[in-house]
Amino acid sequence: MATCEVCGNDYDKAMTIEKEGTSHVFDSFECAIHAIAPTCVHCGCRIIGHGLEAGGQIFCCANCAREQGVEGVTDRAD
Ligand SMILES: [Zn+2]
Ligand SMILES: [Zn+2]
Repeated sequence: MATCEVCGNDYDKAMTIEKEGTSHVFDSFECAIHAIAPTCVHCGCRIIGHGLEAGGQIFCCANCAREQGVEGVTDRAD
């Protein structure tokens, strides 16, 4: 049994996610996203996919990076 560090649920199918050397215990992906998913600098949404890092900031998509003034980023290869 393990206890989710977000909601406190004691769940026998809890998962452990290691991020930057620290282990986190969650009962669901929802709680994991709530706790450790990065947030887009521009629109504030949770980054569940790969996201996009540019200029030391992280964005959910190339459009947000461009809106924030990052040049030369694109979601699709031309
Ligand atoms: Zn939870
Ligand atoms: Zn965004």
